Amino acid sequence: MPKQVKSKPKVTVVGSFMMDLVVKAERRPAKGETLVGQEFGMFCGGKGANQAVAAARCCADVTMVGRVGDDIFGDKFFDALKSEGVETKYIIRDKENGTGIGTPVIDAHGDNSIIIIPRANTKMTPADVEKARDAIEKASALILQLEIPLDASEKAAEIARSNGVKVILNPAPARKIPESFLKKVDILTPNETEAQMLTGISVVDDEGAKKAAKKLLGMGVKDVIITLGGRGAMWASKAGFKTIPAFKVEKVIDTTAAGDAFIGGLSVALAEGKPMEDAIRFANACGGLAVTVMGAMPSLPKRECVEKTMCTGKCE
Ligand code: ADP
Repeated sequence: MPKQVKSKPKVTVVGSFMMDLVVKAERRPAKGETLVGQEFGMFCGGKGANQAVAAARCCADVTMVGRVGDDIFGDKFFDALKSEGVETKYIIRDKENGTGIGTPVIDAHGDNSIIIIPRANTKMTPADVEKARDAIEKASALILQLEIPLDASEKAAEIARSNGVKVILNPAPARKIPESFLKKVDILTPNETEAQMLTGISVVDDEGAKKAAKKLLGMGVKDVIITLGGRGAMWASKAGFKTIPAFKVEKVIDTTAAGDAFIGGLSVALAEGKPMEDAIRFANACGGLAVTVMGAMPSLPKRECVEKTMCTGKCE
């Protein structure tokens, strides 16, 4: 009898690319000063690209949709995503606008300040998204964030919604989202800061998180998952509230991209048909593992590590 091959769950990400040009220096230069720094590094990032890689490392069949420039940064993204097995054929190379960049400056105290220039990301249009209709329609889950224009993201949500594809919106960076868009979202995943910015309700404890989640449900979203850092995540739906605790982490190294790892993992678990609570547990393992490694993309965990964490209860 031929061996049955289980097909991978399909996840499509419509989102951003941001090349991080990281500078390490003793301090920030004063006005007019030229300062010699210590280190430089170039890292692929952006919430869209990070979440696509996060889902791919959890063994999904991932397609990324977005815009990069016709420049060396764009080349780097194609190489990075291809090496992760992410489908790149719907990524547009913008001839007029360069790839989005971020320039974090990290000082001797480890304090970070960053200037972001989104460039090609800001040129994404609903027509670009329409060209990737096939990839959205065939997915089990669609992941969106707010680093590209809202009308492009909303178009992707519309295509997904009318084809029964689960729409996950990570509302980051937080900004006002039209109700027409929220009504097309199945799962909204803010962190505490974003939940507070979206609702105006202070989210510092479970009570605040519940109030904010209730308000977000009232705006038309089906499920709200507020990520609570080291405390895990709170799931809110019509049925009520449930906090799913985080996994144990011995030493937090760097929390960058914990949210991206969480969302990538969540999308894969849901695309595989796991019930919500199990999917959040899986996502908590992904987020927990991400804080044990320095950097964004390098910290996104592989499936085998996620499964090990789920067995042992510890992120190592
Ligand atoms: P963001 O990175 O978007 O600010 P959070 O800080 O809420 O998001 O982290 C996302 C998820 O990562 C959390 O819900 C949790 O699962 C995991 N996580 C983050 N920090 C820790 C930690 N210190 N210990 C264990 N898990 C963590």
